[in-house]
Amino acid sequence: MSSQQPVSEKRRVFSGVQPSGEAHLGNYLGAFRQWVELQDRYDCLFCIVDQHAITGEYEPEDLPGRVFDMAVSLLAVGLDPDKCLLFVQSEVPEHTELAWLFNSVTPVGELERMTQYKDKSARLTSIPAGLLNYPVLQAADILVYLAEGVPVGEDQLQHLELCRGIARRWNAKYGVFFPEPQAIVSGTGRIMGLDGQAKMSKSLGNTVGILAEPEEIWSQIRKAVTDPQRVRRSDPGRPEVCNVYALHEFFTDPGQLPDIAEQCRTAGRGCVECKRILADSIAAEFAPFRERAAFYRERPQEVLAILARGAEQAGAIARQTMAQVRRSMGMDWRRAIDGALDGGAPSA
Ligand code: SF4
Repeated sequence: MSSQQPVSEKRRVFSGVQPSGEAHLGNYLGAFRQWVELQDRYDCLFCIVDQHAITGEYEPEDLPGRVFDMAVSLLAVGLDPDKCLLFVQSEVPEHTELAWLFNSVTPVGELERMTQYKDKSARLTSIPAGLLNYPVLQAADILVYLAEGVPVGEDQLQHLELCRGIARRWNAKYGVFFPEPQAIVSGTGRIMGLDGQAKMSKSLGNTVGILAEPEEIWSQIRKAVTDPQRVRRSDPGRPEVCNVYALHEFFTDPGQLPDIAEQCRTAGRGCVECKRILADSIAAEFAPFRERAAFYRERPQEVLAILARGAEQAGAIARQTMAQVRRSMGMDWRRAIDGALDGGAPSA
């Protein structure tokens, strides 16, 4: 049996990513590196969540390209369609159906308390309902697969807790069916952007694309903010407060780290040279990603076929879940009436 079959003895894990186009360093450290490891241990479903992407401003004509580029990025970093399901959210309509049903057990007050909703809505004069209901669709994304584990960054823990609450409330009302999924936290912690100010984001230009060429990687890394106390080349630095050093810990050979820290503290090596080592380390780690991305870009039909297979197999799981949910919520009325008619027509 192929490992893509939906039936598995392993615990099921779900995670999603917005179709933001080519992935960047922050996506890689915050999620994808972990996803590649998880696909060997769990029954994993990874989803490009295009229906979440429409809750903010976007250009419809750009969305297909962003979905495709994200799919290429995920395959490039090492997601293996023989080990996990990779698919696009809108190709499995059960996500949105379950989200609507979950709206009936989700208190508006809880949605209004979500930090991300408060932050985003505070910047808007007219707030789309989709922004408020975003975490309900996230809960449906996870629970339509009865997933027990969800790899999340710390900024998503509140939404996962809400998802657990939705599962609890639904179970209390309609009978125990949904698991209460657990967080699988990456342990990466918060990775600051290269500007040292904000989370990594392509729109802020404070990150590096995972498919960037070595020269592009260097041109971004050389601008990275370092220890503010290291003003002159001769000033001793503090690796523990420097974001460049934090990145060295992910990308540079661990055997080199003591020397990098020591050379920083003693001002033996300047920041430019230190960043050069980091840029080379990142370029080396990303080199196979560029090769795999080139392979898939030359074979777009292969990418589409992988996504179609993923959606078909994810859809099979989702349809089973929804059949049970509809029964429990009294929405299999046709079958119920047919059954009553079989047992004797109701009197007029
Ligand atoms: Fe950061 Fe390296 Fe400069 Fe030290 S030498 S402050 S670790 S960039």
